[in-house]
Amino acid sequence: MIAFSGVNKWYGDYHAIVDFTAEVAKGEVVVVCGPSGSGKSTLIRTINRLEEIQQGTIRFDGQDVHAPGLNLNQFRSHIGFVFQQFNLFPHLSVLDNLTLAPTTVLKLSATAARERAMQLLDRVGLAHKAAAHPGQLSGGQQQRVAIARALAMSPPAMLFDEPTSALDPEMVGEVLQVMKSLARDGMTMVCVTHEMGFAREVANRVWFMDAGRLVESGTPGDFFQRPKSPRAQKFLSDLRAH
Ligand code: ADP
Ligand code: MG
Repeated sequence: MIAFSGVNKWYGDYHAIVDFTAEVAKGEVVVVCGPSGSGKSTLIRTINRLEEIQQGTIRFDGQDVHAPGLNLNQFRSHIGFVFQQFNLFPHLSVLDNLTLAPTTVLKLSATAARERAMQLLDRVGLAHKAAAHPGQLSGGQQQRVAIARALAMSPPAMLFDEPTSALDPEMVGEVLQVMKSLARDGMTMVCVTHEMGFAREVANRVWFMDAGRLVESGTPGDFFQRPKSPRAQKFLSDLRAH
């Protein structure tokens, strides 16, 4: 579904992604972890071309993401991306947040979009908040709406960049629960997260990055019990100490 091949990216002189080659199969859940500044956000943002790359190729569902002439808006609208900040449209109701892109980009009828939006809100446990505005919701609820909004575009894959990092601790669980149910339903997912319980429970693979490189790629069992590199060992022991 997603394939990085020899990807390199620089910010000016800074080599942010170094010789990155890895694949995510359809239905697979990959958790990306690593120290702050290791390039996790940059990497995930190259998948829907929020960041340009200078070398290599990235394929998404067969499409060369960085090909010149790609219809960027069209392409991006089909990949679900959930950020740390919920970035809902504050002036729209929850329901309208979910129906906007499907009606404008996918040209769904208002009725069909509303019906689908209500199913998705039900799925994330927020059907009763359809008429509310984002500002009236808790952080955890807003993030669940953000996930539902991404799902409204029927994305073939979902990207998450620290979706629970801005949440109060008591709200982390409800968001992880929604992500787990997506994973169980076979969604292809790339998740940057420090929630190692989530990684253990639902990831098929863990990618450990350091200084822009993919240092380790393994099953959660391998990564957590038998990290090979000293950098991963240190990362995990720091995380546990924390
Ligand atoms: P992570 O998500 O793992 O914390 P990032 O991908 O955000 O790491 O950043 C990787 C490195 O690239 C960091 O050293 C960061 O300072 C640098 N970086 C990120 N974005 C930019 C940018 N827009 N311009 C210059 N440097 C950047
Ligand atoms: Mg980041």
